[in-house]
Amino acid sequence: MPQAVDPRRVAEHGSEVMRLVDEIFPLVEGFYVDLHRNPELSYQEHRTSRAVAEWLSRAGYEVTTGVGGTGVVGVLRNGEGPTVLLRCDMDALPLEEQTGLPYASTARGTAADGQEVPIMHACGHDAHTACLVGAADLLAGSRDRWSGTLMVVAQPGQETLDGAEAMLADGLYERFGRPDIALAQRVGPQPAGMIAHRAGVILGMSSTVRVRVFGSTGHGGFQPQTGVDPVVIAASIVTRLQTIVAREVNPSEMAVLTVGVLRAGVRSDLVPSEAYLEINTRCLNERVADRLHAAIERVVRAEAAASAAPRDPEVTVVRASGLTRNDAEQTRALTAAHRAYFGDAYVIDLPEPFTVGEDFGVFGLPGDPDPVPYVLWLIGSTPHEVWAAAPGTTPFDKLASVPGSHSSHFAPDREPTLRAGLAALTIAALTYLGRSAGPGRATSGLARNGRSFTLDEGESTQNTDMRALLDDDEGESTQNTDMRALLDDDEGESTQNTDMRALLDDDEGESTQNTDMRALLDDDEGESTQNTDMRALLDDDEGESTQNTDMRALLDDDEDESTQHTDMAELLRDPPPPPRGPTQGTETGPSSSFRPPSGPAFSAPPPSGPPVDAPPPPPGTQPHQDEPPHHY
Ligand SMILES: [Zn+2]
Repeated sequence: MPQAVDPRRVAEHGSEVMRLVDEIFPLVEGFYVDLHRNPELSYQEHRTSRAVAEWLSRAGYEVTTGVGGTGVVGVLRNGEGPTVLLRCDMDALPLEEQTGLPYASTARGTAADGQEVPIMHACGHDAHTACLVGAADLLAGSRDRWSGTLMVVAQPGQETLDGAEAMLADGLYERFGRPDIALAQRVGPQPAGMIAHRAGVILGMSSTVRVRVFGSTGHGGFQPQTGVDPVVIAASIVTRLQTIVAREVNPSEMAVLTVGVLRAGVRSDLVPSEAYLEINTRCLNERVADRLHAAIERVVRAEAAASAAPRDPEVTVVRASGLTRNDAEQTRALTAAHRAYFGDAYVIDLPEPFTVGEDFGVFGLPGDPDPVPYVLWLIGSTPHEVWAAAPGTTPFDKLASVPGSHSSHFAPDREPTLRAGLAALTIAALTYLGRSAGPGRATSGLARNGRSFTLDEGESTQNTDMRALLDDDEGESTQNTDMRALLDDDEGESTQNTDMRALLDDDEGESTQNTDMRALLDDDEGESTQNTDMRALLDDDEGESTQNTDMRALLDDDEDESTQHTDMAELLRDPPPPPRGPTQGTETGPSSSFRPPSGPAFSAPPPSGPPVDAPPPPPGTQPHQDEPPHHY
């Protein structure tokens, strides 16, 4: 079992490592926007995996591509210590994006069944990937703060729920080593920037069952008695399947059964020869899953027999994901580290699992005599205004009604989601790799190499950001605000200031920032995809920097004790404002009154975290609850 470092020490490491975040955040954000705009279907993640491989090799990882199809593995060996696997998924969904975002996808592609389909990152895999490469870079740049081996895994085919298996079957652990712990995060429906943990089962089981029922063709108008109508058989199956959850599953169990596909026929007066159905099931334990599958098969065969079908139906379970069952002890360790870093108000315990299909648990080798412990957590992605406006009187109503993943309107609140994801993954890795002592100054691998990240089409994402910064005189870009704050803040000891000043002062040297800036200015013909996005940001200013808004919200909220919530329901009812803006000093961050009365100093809210000399977390912090009882 991997040994977790003291959470306060992790928060210290994290604060130091995350000082670099401002250096790479525009790159991570640009990468995210680029991935969002260029989604790829399962096992077709060629462009995405190339970009991931490039990030990782620039950051100093030994990179192998083509693992389990289009999977990428990056290994960074840094002395004695545990091996920590960090995983993201890269594939998108066959869905037409309707978010209206300036960087919305218009991509189309060919699905496995040969159909041309629209493609959209509607499940946050773009955010997972951007956060993973960003965290990988931050960790590579701060090697003197940790020791051990990082194993970064970018998985193909998560939506098909078999990409993890494909990587393992391709010798993932034999070729690259067996991890001591596997970690992953995915976006969740809670307010943006809020982290949700759950010891034990966090995500349920999922399966898709494909059914073909056969009839015999005939003239539906002239001689209907001569055929066997598979449309009628299919209709009876659909109706009868509804009774499985209602009448065959114990009411104390959770189960979902949905017929999402029903196809048959080409003309109103022709009895077709077959009908096709796809059924999706969700539940929280193996026994219920077995029961659902057995009942589906029984109903399908019985309905076909009842209609004297000429051939037995085909029933195939085409994809199934097991439970995502977090290691309880390691979940507690990570929750403690995230609380120490982000503050209690930003970390909640999920009271119930979600019935979302996920194959990350496969990396834990379920069923193996010596399984690999793993933990997956959720990064809140719902914009706070969407959360506030969502119908429902309880937080749980809201959780159900905000546009979730697999919706064509799914639009994570970009900056707080990415910042929280970047920090949460980095802190999680340091929980196992962080040294119990020892300082060190972190530097970004990408920046060290003196170049901005360049996408395939030669579009530097850095370009855009920097151009926006330089061009924007009238607007209220949050970046500008931050930068100005950095430059104006003379008496403060913001480490960022030092960095920025160093950058600006460094004339003879090769400041990477300068280089980037020059690249930006030179690059006139390019159409960085980021441009649009940044312009949108800048155009959108009725003078309301989001940072400002946040600050005002914080200042207005002084008499309340909003940060003291430990109860999830309360937190969700009155979520803290999303973490935004790289600089969290007194000029641009929340007011000093934004702190739990007995909690850690909160001058630096997430994801910059508490200052390095943060006092221990509040004594009143609730121990993490173990998996709540389920009646299996
Ligand atoms: Zn998904």
